[in-house]
Order: sequence, then C-alpha cells, then structure tokens
Amino acid sequence: MRQLIAGNWKMHGRLADVQGFAQAVRTATRHTDLLICPPFTLIDRLATALAGSGIAVGGQDCHPAPEGAYTGDISAPMLAEAGAAYVILGHSERRQGHGETNARVAGKVLAAIAAGLTPIVCVGETDEQRDAGEAEDVVRSQLMHSLPEGFAGIIAYEPVWAIGTGRTPTDADVAAMHAAIRAALVARLGETGKTLKILYGGSVKPGNAASLLALPEVGGALVGGASLKAEDLLAIADAAPRG
Ligand code: PEP
Repeated sequence: MRQLIAGNWKMHGRLADVQGFAQAVRTATRHTDLLICPPFTLIDRLATALAGSGIAVGGQDCHPAPEGAYTGDISAPMLAEAGAAYVILGHSERRQGHGETNARVAGKVLAAIAAGLTPIVCVGETDEQRDAGEAEDVVRSQLMHSLPEGFAGIIAYEPVWAIGTGRTPTDADVAAMHAAIRAALVARLGETGKTLKILYGGSVKPGNAASLLALPEVGGALVGGASLKAEDLLAIADAAPRG
C-alpha cells in the first residue's frame, strides 16, 4: 500500500505562500500519497492550486455539528465544500489547548465521515505517561473512546513529547506502539482494523524519515514543522518505502 505523507501547517501559512508551494509539490515525482492540511483560510486556494495533481487537502479540526451557533468553529460539510478531503481530529494541541475529550473527538469523527471526509485521528502519550510505563494503555484508551463504532479512517500515533521538539522515540518504541495500535484496532473494529493506515508523527524530518517510515505498521507520516517547506516535505516522501 502506498504510504501517506500528510503535512499539518498548524497556524502557519499565508496566501502569498500558496502558489509557490503548490507549484513545487505538484511538479515533483513521488511514490507516496500527499496531503496538505493548511489553516482553514487557505483550504479553498490550495485545493484550487493543486486541482488535478492528485495531492489532497485537509482541515485541522471540525465541529461535531453540521451548522449552528458555534462562534469561531467550522463544520465538516464546510471543509468539504472548500475542497478538503481529509480532516485531522484530536491533535494533542487541540486535546490540550482546547480541552478536547475522547468523546468530543468521537463526535467530530462521525461528523467528518457523514460529510465524506477521511478523519485522521491523533493519539499519543505525554512524557510523564511514557516515563510511568503507561504509554500503551493511554493510547489504547484514546482509541477505544475516540473511535466510534464502524470507524473507517486513519490513525496518527503522535507522542506529545515528540511534537515540535526534535525528539523522537526509538525505532523499537515506535514499532511496539504501532503493533499495539494495530492489535487494538483489530480488537475494536475486526477485519477493518487490519488494514487502516497508522501514521507516525512527531519531529519527522528529511534526516530521520527513512528509518521511521520503514518500521513495521508505519503507513506514512504526519508532519508538522517540516511540511512548511515543500522541499522538506518532498524529501520525506522520497524517503518512504515503495508500497
Ligand atoms: C504535528 O503537529 O502533528 C507534528 C507532528 O509536528 P512536528 O512534525 O513539528 O513535530
């Protein structure tokens, strides 16, 4: 299966960046799927600039309701209408900074699926939880409670302590966690759980991508900082094994 390299621009990126970025990624040859999740304001422009390239665009969050009196929020149908095909949900920056619970994430997942978007559900432990030997239990519990019945989408394992820090888990720790996630998905979803993509995220860079992406059960990467430069994102995609 082709790997997916997904860029999360977070609250970065301006209109002036869109054309140059799109031009650089759409002309490159690649053997992975590519997805860019810019801020909401750029989804429409980026989707237009990437039209026909096979490179997908996604949102970074959505509200569980399709519309309503929710100042500052954005709904899944709105994302789809703007040109998004995916949406990142339950990122640790939202779980921590916006108090998102697993139940809230599950509601958003249902909304995303109903709008025809592919949800990318993020899970991952904090430093303290890993030090206490609780990493796998924490992630299993997040999966159990953030994924609604019949979930179909993508999981991103993102240790909170590895995001934006330049630190990554050892290859053995990534492999062990991805195996635990696979087992939990199969226990929860049966046959479907065997094939869902599991991305690794947390300080993926051109220099460490080859070893991380070659690990068993790693189906691609969710990339923050390094996705802002087309050259770095493409170098990460280049480092992925051919599926
Ligand atoms: C992220 O925000 O999902 C992420 C993985 O960030 P970074 O690559 O910068 O660690």
